[in-house]
Amino acid sequence: MSQVRHNWTKEEILDVYNTPLMELLYDAATIHRKHHDPNTVQVSTLLSIKTGGCPEDCGYCPQAARYHTDIEGNDLMSVSHVKAQALRAKSSGSSRVCMGAAWRNVKDGPEFDQVLEMVRTINKLDMEVCCTLGMLTENQAHRLAEAGLYAYNHNLDTSEDYYKDVISTRAFKDRLDTIDNVRKSNVTVCSGGIIGMGEQLEDRAGMLVALTSLNPQPESVPINALVPVEGTPMEDIAPVSIWDMVRMVATTRIVMPETQVRLSAGRTEMSREGQAMCFFAGANSIFAGDKLLTTPNPDVSEDMEMFKMLGLNPQKPFTKVSQPKTVEAGDSQFESMSEKPKWSRPGHKIDRNENAKAKAKA
Ligand code: SF4
Repeated sequence: MSQVRHNWTKEEILDVYNTPLMELLYDAATIHRKHHDPNTVQVSTLLSIKTGGCPEDCGYCPQAARYHTDIEGNDLMSVSHVKAQALRAKSSGSSRVCMGAAWRNVKDGPEFDQVLEMVRTINKLDMEVCCTLGMLTENQAHRLAEAGLYAYNHNLDTSEDYYKDVISTRAFKDRLDTIDNVRKSNVTVCSGGIIGMGEQLEDRAGMLVALTSLNPQPESVPINALVPVEGTPMEDIAPVSIWDMVRMVATTRIVMPETQVRLSAGRTEMSREGQAMCFFAGANSIFAGDKLLTTPNPDVSEDMEMFKMLGLNPQKPFTKVSQPKTVEAGDSQFESMSEKPKWSRPGHKIDRNENAKAKAKA
């Protein structure tokens, strides 16, 4: 029985988010194990193929032309450069290359043709290819699909209510329209957001309401912690705590059991113990490489060392996203949850003693 729900309310999600931490971790880990291999983590390499000079005003982004940051802009990368980077990423364990261009939207013409060629080139390396290029028409989504694009990233960033406080040059609806255009092709959707931008908990829940209501839900949901960059309007915001990240990851896992939850920006501020807690809470994907577009990220070799320490394996490319775990005889907690999914009933009130009762019955 599928546990996927599209009618989560903000109140229900807040209730999950505010569950006592040990209960929240237990619930999230239980659901995670039911739908995914808990020892496998997908590794993506993010490559900035066109940096800086963006006409948009996303308050967190150093690539916006209007902010005075010290990032070095560059024109669209050559296909051969992208291929070399993809080969490097593959040899260090990445199964996916995600190419980001600082554009408001994709324009048909030689630059888009060059991106299509990059997609074809990486595809031939037997790697998944993802792009994040801004707004996209349905026709452009189909052209990317024909070139072999596996996923398109387009983050909702935050709740619809808080969106205008973060970005004024486009509307929340524009994001949904692009996601809708991607869905009309056979490209999978990667869409998540950023916490720590001054939003309220209600906004985190509101973003998850919007993501869960998508049908189908995104195959991949990146959870980023704001990395404040000098020169951007958010430069002085204090970093979010690890507890906020763990709660956000766990809540995302519970409300979107089949999706891949991607631990994204902000990992440099997290200890290995903190990251391990996020993996336990249901994160099963990371971005690798020393840079996430323009912000710092842990070194690949450090990540592989962490994987070794935690007994995690990088996921092979083109692995089906949701892999229900076989329920083993005697594993009564999982049996009871698969028969009666705790989170799948609209209006379900959380019973804090439910797990204890399930254990007592075993
Ligand atoms: S997040 Fe993307 S759209 Fe927004 S300013 Fe940065 S590059 Fe431009």
